[in-house]
Amino acid sequence: MLHFAGLKAVGESMLQPLRYWDVNVTGTLRLLEAMGRHGCQTLVFSSSATLYGTTDRVPIPETAPLQPINPYGYTKAAVERLLTDVAASATGWRIALLRYFNPVGAHPSGRLGEDPSGLPNNLFPFLCQVAAGRRPHLEVFGGDWPTPDGTGVRDYLHVMDLAEGHGRALEVLHAEPPQLLTLNLGSGRGHSVLDLVRTFETTTGLTVPYTVVDRRPGDSAVSVADPREAERRMGWRTRRSLADICRDGWAWQSTNPQGYRTNGLPLSQGLIQAQHVS
Ligand code: UDP
Repeated sequence: MLHFAGLKAVGESMLQPLRYWDVNVTGTLRLLEAMGRHGCQTLVFSSSATLYGTTDRVPIPETAPLQPINPYGYTKAAVERLLTDVAASATGWRIALLRYFNPVGAHPSGRLGEDPSGLPNNLFPFLCQVAAGRRPHLEVFGGDWPTPDGTGVRDYLHVMDLAEGHGRALEVLHAEPPQLLTLNLGSGRGHSVLDLVRTFETTTGLTVPYTVVDRRPGDSAVSVADPREAERRMGWRTRRSLADICRDGWAWQSTNPQGYRTNGLPLSQGLIQAQHVS
């Protein structure tokens, strides 16, 4: 079982904590009960590097302290705790907690990509929508961070690398005795906001207008995974570059400038069509 069904917007979680606890925590609890009833005891859970809080430790290993700073992060920590208890109950559960860093990009076909509702919270979909002419410019949150160019540094990984990480986690869980596997999924490389903008411009030949504004509350300067444990345990590492991410992300956005509502299909049919991409 691959469990992706969670809410993930930090700002929204501060405004609607009950909804976040309900969907993310109660939802997982109900899923575990249903799995138990049906004899399904293998689960890969989408966790998040947000658990590590605002630490600037570089790179971050799985053993770093967990110190979430918003309701979204607390719900991820609570589910990790819940799954740890379930795995420790020695009833044959095989569970992987995969802590995502910054997954971005799209399927290389350009038919399956990220379509946030409303104003995108995250850098990459926002940047793509600026490039597509849907938004006038990108706001860069802070130019005075203690990083080489003053903008925030993150560990961006291609969604296809992320997907392969899930495949490997399932294979390892099935091949080994029941266990709880806790792994970072990241590239181990840090890129600044301006690195991403420049790589996007070089890869697509477009210009992305931006302005530097104040820092966003709750942000940290640097967040980069130590991915060595994922390589050691599953033989997994990222294979795609920042340029691959930009090329594939733009393939999706340029083919679907208004998201799944384009190509003349209603939203539901657009989604069904996208789900048929292998
Ligand atoms: N960021 C930005 N402008 C935006 C969105 C994000 O400058 O419109 C920056 C943010 O401050 C951080 C990086 O881009 O340094 C990645 O932010 P994102 O929200 O994508 O992921 P996070 O690491 O916060 O989960």
